[in-house]
Amino acid sequence: MSRIAIVRNKAKLRALLGIRARLVVLALILVCPLMLDRVRLLEQTRAAQLAAMTKEISTLAQRTADAEREVISSVEAVLKSAAYVHAAAAQAGRGCSILRASLRVDLPSIRMLMVADPDGVVRCSTASMFVGSDISDRPYFRKALETRDFVVSDFLVGRQTQKGTILAAYPVSAIDTGKEAVIVAGINLDWLSDMMSNLAGRTGVSAALIDGEGTVLATPPDERSLIGKKLNRLALLPAMAENPQGQQAAIIRDEAGRLLSISRIPGTSARLVVTIDESKVSAGINHEIRTAYLQLALVCLFVLLGALIAAERLIVQPISVLTAVAKRFAAGDWSARVARKRLPSEFVPLARAFNAMAAQLGQRERELVASNSRLSVMASMDLLSGLANRRGFQSRLEFEWLRGQQTGHRLALMMIDVDHFKLFNDSYGHPEGDACLSRIGETLAAIADQTSGFAARYGGEEFCLLLPDTGTARAIQVGELLRSTVEQLALPHRTSTFEHVTVSIGVACALPSEQASPAELVEAADAALYAAKHRGRNNVVEHGFTRASDGPVAMAS
Ligand code: GH3
Ligand code: MG
Ligand code: MG
Repeated sequence: MSRIAIVRNKAKLRALLGIRARLVVLALILVCPLMLDRVRLLEQTRAAQLAAMTKEISTLAQRTADAEREVISSVEAVLKSAAYVHAAAAQAGRGCSILRASLRVDLPSIRMLMVADPDGVVRCSTASMFVGSDISDRPYFRKALETRDFVVSDFLVGRQTQKGTILAAYPVSAIDTGKEAVIVAGINLDWLSDMMSNLAGRTGVSAALIDGEGTVLATPPDERSLIGKKLNRLALLPAMAENPQGQQAAIIRDEAGRLLSISRIPGTSARLVVTIDESKVSAGINHEIRTAYLQLALVCLFVLLGALIAAERLIVQPISVLTAVAKRFAAGDWSARVARKRLPSEFVPLARAFNAMAAQLGQRERELVASNSRLSVMASMDLLSGLANRRGFQSRLEFEWLRGQQTGHRLALMMIDVDHFKLFNDSYGHPEGDACLSRIGETLAAIADQTSGFAARYGGEEFCLLLPDTGTARAIQVGELLRSTVEQLALPHRTSTFEHVTVSIGVACALPSEQASPAELVEAADAALYAAKHRGRNNVVEHGFTRASDGPVAMAS
């Protein structure tokens, strides 16, 4: 990259990183860590809430499983006591009537009790519709006989009721080997479902009590429609295999990413399955987090806007005001003042200093202008005669020349030289010479006043008189007036042939034009003066002609 390109890029970067951009970056530096911290907290909250919810549901599931366990235990206890009663009553030959009378089924967990003989024929039941039915083909019945232990069936549909149910069986032979009968209880599935009501109504959470085949036995009240249906047992297998006898729930994640808590109900093949769909559970929290993100974005936006407005009002605008006033100073306008009312307090001292500086510089400039004009007047003045000096004469000549061009009037000039002034100095000394020049200056000033002319000391003992709007004849008249006035001053000059101080005068007249120059008029008057000297001094000579008869007035060559 060339040097020029680098310099250009640097300038662009500097323009980009103006004061506004810097303040915005500063605001972002302040806000971003807060924003990131808030986001971190929200994420933490989400994880914590999810963990808390999962824990709460696990605990609830565990409690529910315990409750179900107790139901089954209570059913087992009822069956065992029924078996004792049956064994005792059977000896008296009144097994059935005593059973019906003594063991009224008023427990909410048991729908009915019945006694089946070893062939599977129901001999007696708290519900008469079951008497005489054959349950010998039911697996739970055969298993109870084989194992001589308490058995709970899987889900099955009752032949008489055509309703889904589960049954618990306990063989009397378990307590009295002489008696071969099986006590059977119909377990109230609604009661099992009611046990699960504490798991109902939770978004993203579903629960089911399933049998060994995965058929739903009970659910919370809001999911009753699932009872009797089969769950995907394959998905549950790993958890069912895990910790087969444990009291603690097994936690697994299924293919859909849901969390499954599976608790075994001891003494049965049933399990309580609680499914937690994290995406649904955290939907509410996610919504809160999204709202928080939106709020943060809005806060950031407001901070940025605030930074921009603050930069504009507190820094950029005051600087612009000061810059505008400084520009007026630069243009020479020292009357400009910064209006302090519109500025932030931090800029007020600067504005005050600006205004004070402007007032002081304005005062200095006025003094400078006055002193300059005094100097320029002094530079155009001759102190000895009190008349304008050659510089002053020169600028007035140019001015009158231009004016003559505009008005079309003639301009006359006379050059005046003191005769034999060297001899005067020699005779009376320089101070006297100065006094003499001063007197002649006064005389010339008076005549200039009378004739609206402009008198000046041209140099040494030479003077000049500029007569605007004056023709040759009038100029000669004025020249003669001057010559005679000086003569009449009667200033003694013992070494002069005239014995008094006299002057020689050369007169020239011109019509100012662009073709001619003021210098030519001076040359012509000078030539006339030279001629006046040549003709004997103390006379007036007009440039270009001589009038010998008029005495002192002669013509220059
Ligand atoms: P001319 O009649 O031909 O003009 O003779 P001049 O002696 O006047 O002329 P010259 O040029 O020979 O001498 C001029 C003298 O004027 C010489 C100089 O000492 C004197 N002079 C010039 N300026 C001053 C001044 O300011 N004060 C005094 N006292 N003398 C001055
Ligand atoms: Mg001279
Ligand atoms: Mg002279």
